[in-house]
Amino acid sequence: MEDYLVKALAHDGFIRAYAVQATNTVAEAQRRHDTWHTSSAALGRALVGSLLLGATVKGDDKITVRIQGDGPANGIIVDANGNGDVKGYIKNPHLSLPLNAEGKLDVRGAVGTQGMFSVTKDLGLKEPFSGQTPIVSGELAEDFTYYLAISEQIPSAVGLSVLVNTDDTIKTAGGFLIQIMPGADEETIANIEEQLKTTPRISTLLDEGLTPEEILKGLLGTDELQVLEKMPVQFKCDCSKEKFGEAIIALGAEEIQAMIDEDHGAEAVCSFCNNKYTYTEEELTELKAEALGGK
Ligand SMILES: [Zn+2]
Repeated sequence: MEDYLVKALAHDGFIRAYAVQATNTVAEAQRRHDTWHTSSAALGRALVGSLLLGATVKGDDKITVRIQGDGPANGIIVDANGNGDVKGYIKNPHLSLPLNAEGKLDVRGAVGTQGMFSVTKDLGLKEPFSGQTPIVSGELAEDFTYYLAISEQIPSAVGLSVLVNTDDTIKTAGGFLIQIMPGADEETIANIEEQLKTTPRISTLLDEGLTPEEILKGLLGTDELQVLEKMPVQFKCDCSKEKFGEAIIALGAEEIQAMIDEDHGAEAVCSFCNNKYTYTEEELTELKAEALGGK
């Protein structure tokens, strides 16, 4: 199944809901960063949550989610936009912690339970919006929920779920975001809360072949889903050799000469997608000339 995100309304528009199937997206991140199982689950959940949060902004508007906990993951950083593009990394990709008491991948053990969850939104305005809340769980879905409730004051329910194969690759990944609009009636809210308690994890439902639309209908307890948009989602990084070249130019001529003399070249690695860019002595000499304003 292709990865996509669904935006929908239900219950006379009082419930706004998003669901995403992101298996290929998370699998691509897993391959690029060679994450081991606990890191795969932690990064995967962060990617899915950021895709859902990114779906709440328009087109090229961008969000950055930084999860800085006290666990051995050492931090997770994800960028997403309103077009369904996401990229991200976990500082420690090689975590394979023992399963937790429920027999699940120990994302909390990787992320930690103390620290900060922060979101920056670049909405094309002068100042980016930024908000942060303390990490309250470390399992990440609760942390996204808490952030939305406190920082954006939107009562929400978030589910993030990643199934990892025994060889650390991704079996399924997906999630949902349900937001309650002012004026929603108590019975609707109570019904949804009940469904949330009894519905299996979204990765399991995806594994059974359910679509994001079907998952939302189940979660919201209704067949009447007003689908507003279906949007493809993908792992996508906007880095390039040229961009890293600009960063090298910014280091200054002296620094570039040192790279030529000492290393006879340079290599830049993108943290977000792990692409490597190499620069020969000749290329560095050209960049040095640009640094000196010789262009
Ligand atoms: Zn990149």
